Amino acid sequence: MSAIRPTLEEIQNFEGKYPKQLWYLFFVEMWERFCFYGMRGVLTIFMADQLLGLALSDKDANLKYGAIQAFVYAFTFIGGIFADKILGFKKSLFFGGLIMILGNLIIAFSPQALFYVGITLTIIGTGFFKPNISSMVGELYKEGDPRRDAGFGLFYSGINAGAFLGGIVCVYLGKSEDFGWSYAFLAAAAVMVIGLITFVYTKNALGPIGDSPLLENEPSKRKTKEIAVYVGALLSIPLVFLMIKNTDYTDYFMYSIGPLALLYFLYETFKENSEAARKKLIAALVFILFSVVFWAFFEQSGGSLSLFAKYNLSDKLLFFNIDPNMVNNSSNSLFVIIFSPIIGLLWLGLAKRKIEPNTVIKFGIGFLFLAAAFYVFYSTRFFAGPDGKTSLNVFTVSYLIITLAELCLSPIGLSIMTKLSPKRLSGMMMGMWFLASAYGQYVAGLLGAGMSSPDENASAADKLIAFTDGYYQLAIYALIAGIVLVALSPLVRKLMQEVK
Ligand code: GLN
Repeated sequence: MSAIRPTLEEIQNFEGKYPKQLWYLFFVEMWERFCFYGMRGVLTIFMADQLLGLALSDKDANLKYGAIQAFVYAFTFIGGIFADKILGFKKSLFFGGLIMILGNLIIAFSPQALFYVGITLTIIGTGFFKPNISSMVGELYKEGDPRRDAGFGLFYSGINAGAFLGGIVCVYLGKSEDFGWSYAFLAAAAVMVIGLITFVYTKNALGPIGDSPLLENEPSKRKTKEIAVYVGALLSIPLVFLMIKNTDYTDYFMYSIGPLALLYFLYETFKENSEAARKKLIAALVFILFSVVFWAFFEQSGGSLSLFAKYNLSDKLLFFNIDPNMVNNSSNSLFVIIFSPIIGLLWLGLAKRKIEPNTVIKFGIGFLFLAAAFYVFYSTRFFAGPDGKTSLNVFTVSYLIITLAELCLSPIGLSIMTKLSPKRLSGMMMGMWFLASAYGQYVAGLLGAGMSSPDENASAADKLIAFTDGYYQLAIYALIAGIVLVALSPLVRKLMQEVK
């Protein structure tokens, strides 16, 4: 346990490229994402395999998967607000982590009977954990410190290292004859324990970052409020449980949480006294709205691209054979792990020469890469044989490009949320950033469904045409989104004021 508790200035006045606390948060988040993506990786296979008795067809399993994903990211908004108002980031993260552990243990203990209870806990736990750790990363930096985006880039590598390992280990355990599903969920719980222990041992080094916002309150009063949040979260379990069990409720929830969040955002924004702060919040909203479009395209990876990989890709990558779905599932994480720190260093280098692009331009570049990536997905049709199977190499290049797009937008988005939010709203804003992912996920499902060929029994060649036509359109829309963003950039920059 690091004994000395540094002050905020001591933390923010770090030398070198990264503050040491970033590494602590890196590992905590890495284990959390291992747990999360491990669980997510086995979810659909598990549901189709184990819950068959409960009449879950492939299609239902997919629907449920989408619903669970949307819920997980929607709850970050709620988790962010409670951290701002009552718990502070540190307690929120710890509580969320505990609930996630419990959720996975419950499924490990009784995969069939208690599955939805466990998933409900994972959703609530992630809501308290995920946005708040990112907000703490932002607080390691002084306002205007040019090293912040690079810091988020490194942090993003941690996210993906966890995602990559979790996906492999949990799926392996779940499918293996010797182990089975219980072990997969047990492993997810175990790594989350490692994450929380890491956090407990290093949180002192965060000094005042993430402390309770109610430190001025009387301790007993503060305790009562904290306990009320914990109890409230636990009381919401049956409600969330009902909503994920019934996909209709999921739709209602998705229709209402976004507008409600937007209203609440407007309420908080207009409560803000300074006009400068209000403008920054509106700028943050613009980034959030664009990110919905981005994720809707990007998240084709879990839907239409995985079907495309299954039906239309050869299994030859360079000089060896590999399951194309494996490439679809893991190449993005691998590319992020490699390129995220490199791009971070590129931003640092450009900042030194005073030519680092600002956030609007980075987002714009992100959309251009996104358009290019989908154009390459489209162009796979020119490499196809008569059997409708096309080049895995070209597909992988496309994944590299889509990863570059993600790196211009996702870590930068986390970073800009922390730059544009006033301290009292930073959890909520980070939550909104992830809520946008929930909607992206949701729209991705709709887009993917529209893209797959209407006839299930169509030939591979017909499917290839249907999918790649869809990707062509996505390329065009991504290009348009990029152009709109560039056109809006003078306005957004005005709203951002001195923030880059
Ligand atoms: N892959 C990133 C993560 O897990 C981004 C998720 C998102 O915002 N949709 O944190």
